[in-house]
Amino acid sequence: MLSFHSVKDYQTLLRNGKTTCVDAVSFYIDSIRRNKHLNAFLEVYEEEALQRARYLDEKRLNGATTGKLHGVIVGLKDVICYKEHTVSAGSRILENFTAVYNATVVEKLLDEDAIIIGRQNCDEFAMGSSNENSAYGPVLNSVDNTRVPGGSSGGSAVSVQADLCMVSLGSDTGGSVRQPADFCGIVGLKPSYGRVSRFGLIAYASSFDQIGIFAKNIFDAALVLEVISGKDEYDSTAVDDIFLYKKEKLNDKAYRIAYFPSTFNHSSLDAEIAEKQKGFLRKLQDTGIEVVPIDFDLIDYIVPAYYILTTAEASSNLSRYDGIKYGASNREKEIELQINSTRSNYFGKEVKRRIMLGTFVLSEGYYDAYVSQAQKVRSILLNKVNKIFKEVDAIISSVSPTTAFTFGEKSNDPIEMFLADIYTVFANLVGIPGISVPLFKHSNGMPFGLQLMASHLNELTLLALAEKISAINERL
Ligand code: GLN
Repeated sequence: MLSFHSVKDYQTLLRNGKTTCVDAVSFYIDSIRRNKHLNAFLEVYEEEALQRARYLDEKRLNGATTGKLHGVIVGLKDVICYKEHTVSAGSRILENFTAVYNATVVEKLLDEDAIIIGRQNCDEFAMGSSNENSAYGPVLNSVDNTRVPGGSSGGSAVSVQADLCMVSLGSDTGGSVRQPADFCGIVGLKPSYGRVSRFGLIAYASSFDQIGIFAKNIFDAALVLEVISGKDEYDSTAVDDIFLYKKEKLNDKAYRIAYFPSTFNHSSLDAEIAEKQKGFLRKLQDTGIEVVPIDFDLIDYIVPAYYILTTAEASSNLSRYDGIKYGASNREKEIELQINSTRSNYFGKEVKRRIMLGTFVLSEGYYDAYVSQAQKVRSILLNKVNKIFKEVDAIISSVSPTTAFTFGEKSNDPIEMFLADIYTVFANLVGIPGISVPLFKHSNGMPFGLQLMASHLNELTLLALAEKISAINERL
């Protein structure tokens, strides 16, 4: 039986003939079958994955050069296009839609010998924090099946948590990689805006969306980032700067980390989480990392600004689903009726709520009161963050105010659900990278950790520091 710890160890086993890609794929297919109740996968590409595994085994045995992700078994959130495979964004409106091209990240994974094992469940159009908004049913947290896995990339997080694949790609518009990673006790990396091409990612809010990575450890996340980052002629926002994890450059670095006391003392933060995290910050000081408090009085503006801007962008992005060009359609004689009935029938409740909210804030007479104000908040935050990163290497915060909550606990109160994104949306508003580092266990049995954020395109510091604090925690 395969016991997967890291890509590096697995590839050593492959090279030494101790395992094969076929064995690994068979192990994960079996594991997915045994854990079907978790509802993490919407589709598993059994035959295809096995066939690719056979091809890769042969390639290796023939002595050919192998890719960086040789034999690595990857799951894709159901918002990433994989040519000739269904991609539904967790929605009925795209239930039978087949991708006509590969997302750039998929091309890059395949070029480096990865094996794609299946399509993972998520909140509809990546809108949600609990996976309860998927048209295909919720995903269960494998630590406690009565609890949510987080969202919107819940299927991708649980797949790594429960050993259904080695790494997954999700998307993070306001926390959808970092928050489920935290709820599941694994690593979740949201790269800087522009670090990874969004070509072939189904859009939710284009100026916030980024493809992110779930992994068992920080090094694996860094390796996948090396593969998927870089410029792309199909996405003009993708920056021309390939990421390489040369952490030895930072070996003797004396780190300085900022925290906002207003966030650690926020009334929504669970008392036990706050206590553990504050205690850990004190211990970091003892190891020589400087931890400095910085005033931040904008905390209560960030969730409203995020939900105004993302719903505005979503209402525009989702107008393409009209029953004419893509996906499901209710045929009617009148075109307007057809659009109405298609959208009414096939979009879920949360997606409709956001389209309506977004259309409202964009409408004449309200634009200035909402969108313009939110844009101002966004630029104030950007100025603030640029100043902060002149002084420190990283910002540390909680990922979520609570550990994974139970099903139904927040789903009837959208405002409460939105407010729980308080710690994650900041990084998307200003485009910086963020990572959730699993560190602790709550007395309720659930995992939680801390989030680190670094300056734009400074994933090197982010990941190296994340490794460092993980190691410190292990020694404690
Ligand atoms: N929970 C947030 C939202 O519902 C984040 C979603 C995401 O990052 N895709 O908008």
